[in-house]
Amino acid sequence: MTTHIESEEHKALRSAVAALGKRYGREYLTRTVAEGKPLTELWSEAGRLGYLGVSLPQEHGGGGGGITELSLVLEELGAAGSPLLMLVVSPAICGTVISRFGTEAQKRRWLPGIADGTRLMAFGITEPDAGSNSHRITTTARRDGTDWLLTGRKVFISGVDMADAVLIVGRTEDARTGNLKPCLFIVPTDAEGFHKHPIDMELNAAEKQFELVLDDVRLPADALVGDEDAGLLQLFAGLNPERIMTAAFAIGMGRYALAKAIEYARDRTVWKSPIGAHQAIAHPLAQAHIDLELARLMTQKAAHLYDSGDDIGAGEAANMAKYAAGEACVKAVDQAVHTLGGNGLTREFGLASLITAARVARIAPVSREMILNYVSHQTLGLPKSY
Ligand SMILES: Cc1cc2nc3c(=O)[nH]c(=O)nc-3n(C[C@H](O)[C@H](O)[C@H](O)COP(=O)(O)OP(=O)(O)OC[C@H]3O[C@@H](n4cnc5c(N)ncnc54)[C@H](O)[C@@H]3O)c2cc1C
Repeated sequence: MTTHIESEEHKALRSAVAALGKRYGREYLTRTVAEGKPLTELWSEAGRLGYLGVSLPQEHGGGGGGITELSLVLEELGAAGSPLLMLVVSPAICGTVISRFGTEAQKRRWLPGIADGTRLMAFGITEPDAGSNSHRITTTARRDGTDWLLTGRKVFISGVDMADAVLIVGRTEDARTGNLKPCLFIVPTDAEGFHKHPIDMELNAAEKQFELVLDDVRLPADALVGDEDAGLLQLFAGLNPERIMTAAFAIGMGRYALAKAIEYARDRTVWKSPIGAHQAIAHPLAQAHIDLELARLMTQKAAHLYDSGDDIGAGEAANMAKYAAGEACVKAVDQAVHTLGGNGLTREFGLASLITAARVARIAPVSREMILNYVSHQTLGLPKSY
């Protein structure tokens, strides 16, 4: 199987999802965000149609595909103007980690609902005092009989208001070496001692971000997903899909903005010919298109490596794909807004808010600079400054 030429099945999946996206589209998203509501109708329908669970195992209600298929779903919904951010989190991170490392009971309990969208799981790794340096996370689990008591703080956790539980990255209390020894816990959002506070973001998005305070949250033994000592491997089993999905999110958004700009540039005429005939307008749009296509190619490579079980190879490719897609998205949105002149900043055309939204793909889940650091050290073998 090649990664650069899409199969007929993938093309069919793309067009089916694109058709769903078109039925909802930007207008639906704008209206729902204005009402302060989540994108429940689109989420539920995508779940019923099997799109949310496309990467999860068939015996647990999924479609039996991989991150390749799930990233197609997100890209096409984004290209239609109504991306579902929680696809990055609930099926791609949490669903993957549970299906790869969970117990049979955890799989039975969570996967069917994650697959059909009736249950949603958020993901929490970022901490206020650790940020990009996940080695510094201090959320700590200590044993109390057979239970765990989890204490710590998390920040920028998406979709907690919609979630039944959050997959929290903590560390075990005896991890004194300073090495990252993460362990993953399923924490129900209604647990005692679990507090969430919305963060006032300047983002025109339906998914809200939260600060979490975990104050001695008591969890049963089976809240731990996977092995207490195999943390890093299990964590990256979820973080690589997160990067691939963020790349797909960025490519979808870039395509949406670019399509709007092209449509406008074909018609808008202030001299003799439409503005799209001026190379100063046409060439940056062509460059944006090329950058998005290249980013997609890297995303497909990363997804292919991941789905074929090459976790190490997928790590580098997923980082590069996220970097390329984040940059391509930021540039495409910037050029799209510019192409519309004053209309680029009106609510009617709805592009200006994408300027902030596009930046999410540059900063999260791992920033542009941290990917450049990764490539400098891991790929190029250059020394570390930090
Ligand atoms: C909309 C949104 C949704 C999010 N959703 C989630 C979620 O669901 N779950 C979750 O766990 N997290 C989530 N995050 C958090 C996100 O992953 C972090 O914001 C990101 O990892 C960066 O961490 P930070 O914000 O603390 O920035 P910092 O680590 O403080 O970095 C600030 C700046 O310094 C730069 N920098 C830091 N260290 C270095 C270095 N060594 N070399 C060069 N430059 C450096 C960074 O690149 C960045 O530009 C979300 C963030 C956003 C914006």
